[in-house]
Amino acid sequence: MKILISACLLGEDVRYDGENSSIAQGSSFTFSQKELFMDILCDNDIYSFCPEVSGGLPTPREAAEIVSRTKPFIVQNKDKTDVTINFLVGAKGALDLCNEEGIKVALLKSKSPSCGNEEIYDGTFSKNLIQGQGLTAKLLIENDIEVFNENQLNQLKKFIKTNS
Ligand code: SF4
Repeated sequence: MKILISACLLGEDVRYDGENSSIAQGSSFTFSQKELFMDILCDNDIYSFCPEVSGGLPTPREAAEIVSRTKPFIVQNKDKTDVTINFLVGAKGALDLCNEEGIKVALLKSKSPSCGNEEIYDGTFSKNLIQGQGLTAKLLIENDIEVFNENQLNQLKKFIKTNS
């Protein structure tokens, strides 16, 4: 199965702070989670993608949060620089890739203002999480693409098994 995966989860240094969120090498993941992740990588066609880099933002970059969660969306850095257009371009790029390649499922990084599928920061830069989706995750879900995060590898594996 074809799977879109957040580039940072694959170990690419594309995060805002110039680091990555590698599942395979991250200390916050258990050995069995890493093993499961490696199985998923080996058994499927992987498409690595970072919406924020694809949307034209540099690495490293200022952390950004979604300050308006309904249309018109507004995404800003802490200093209030508006980066909404970059986030929207990145989200559209992810959807275009899924449509072009027939990708029906994505594994995206949790809590990100682009990739988060269940929770995001509340737009006040105070580390408060709220229910909600990053702009890329939201666009993919609205277009019937299943989105899982790095803490939902078992659910992803089940989805692959059921839909292969
Ligand atoms: S936009 Fe997504 S892929 Fe890129 S660094 Fe943030 S969480 Fe990772």
